[in-house]
Amino acid sequence: GHGFGANPSPRIVMMGLRRGGKSSICQVMFHNMQPLDTLYIESTTAPTTSVFSSFIDFAVMELPGQINFTEAMIDAERIFSSCGALIYVIDSQDEYINALANLHSIIIHAVNANPTINIEVFIHKVDGLSEDFRLDAQRDITQRVTDELLDDGLVNVSISFHLTSIFDHSIYEAFSRVVQKLIPQLATLENLLNVLCQHSGIDKAFLFDIGSKIFVATDSSPLDIPTYEICTDFIDITVDMNNLYAVDRRPPKTGSRTDTNANGNNGTTITTTTTTTTTTTTTTTPTTTTANNNTTNRPEPPVPQGRPIGSTSRLSNGVILYLQQMVKGLALVCLMRKESMPKIALVEYNIEFFRDALEQLWLIG
Ligand code: GDP
Repeated sequence: GHGFGANPSPRIVMMGLRRGGKSSICQVMFHNMQPLDTLYIESTTAPTTSVFSSFIDFAVMELPGQINFTEAMIDAERIFSSCGALIYVIDSQDEYINALANLHSIIIHAVNANPTINIEVFIHKVDGLSEDFRLDAQRDITQRVTDELLDDGLVNVSISFHLTSIFDHSIYEAFSRVVQKLIPQLATLENLLNVLCQHSGIDKAFLFDIGSKIFVATDSSPLDIPTYEICTDFIDITVDMNNLYAVDRRPPKTGSRTDTNANGNNGTTITTTTTTTTTTTTTTTPTTTTANNNTTNRPEPPVPQGRPIGSTSRLSNGVILYLQQMVKGLALVCLMRKESMPKIALVEYNIEFFRDALEQLWLIG
């Protein structure tokens, strides 16, 4: 296949100790689960691998503590050698000494297998920490990890630290940063967005992966979080509206929805019912079913399958939100002032050029 992230092997691997929040992050990001519903996710005791197909190929490997560490690492090294980033999730609300020791040995293996791999440390669950504590935790963890790497003479490791929580935008932002580093065409995309904004009276433009709400690129004007959040909400609303009268093309269910060989988790049932509004009307084809051994009952991310989605909305403060689906599951989301509205034909004309450029980039990539 084609595409910026097209690669038969996983590009991003996620690891971390049990209960750190890995499954929750994946469910929230790739399966539209509500953050509170992650309380019901059942813990896994064996190393598990789940693969999510999004704009990027994404695999989650869960390693429960030090058990079978060497054995699991042989497998992991094979994966490291072909992936761009390793996300390591640390529970910031818990004692993190064990996690840091685990992270250190994983970094050694990862860098050994792939010296250019990006190590991305998610200092997670920071919603439970005060602002001061967050910064302290970040400083402390950064210091310990880099000191240990220095002691081992590892000076060229590409490592970044992110404060994250599934209860706010921070997990999406961190993920976006991780993904952006892996896109070789990022500079070109940013340039295209800059040109589009300049010539169309657009204040801010994002290119989003609709399914995960990761933003792949944005123009170089300052990014503020409320704007980003409005755009992600707008994606949700547009997708929901688009699916409102969609015909369900899934094959009829045999047996009950919960009667599968999944992990027998009651929480799964609860989630399925609470997210009905966004999932039951989703149009999915049978071929989009991912090989995800953890989430047999879960809805697919609501990526539109039919004609491209689009919508325009005017907020009470006069700001215009504009969304157009581009190639694949990518959408352009723009903010404009109401003064741009009379020129909307020009804006759309320019957006068509942007789409063409994107299609060409996609074919080259
Ligand atoms: P895993 O074993 O690493 O996959 O961890 P889980 O995804 O099972 O998460 C363990 C627990 O952490 C669950 O009860 C989640 O609800 C909770 N959790 C996950 N992410 C967050 C977060 O950002 N903040 C808080 N407060 N709890 C979280």
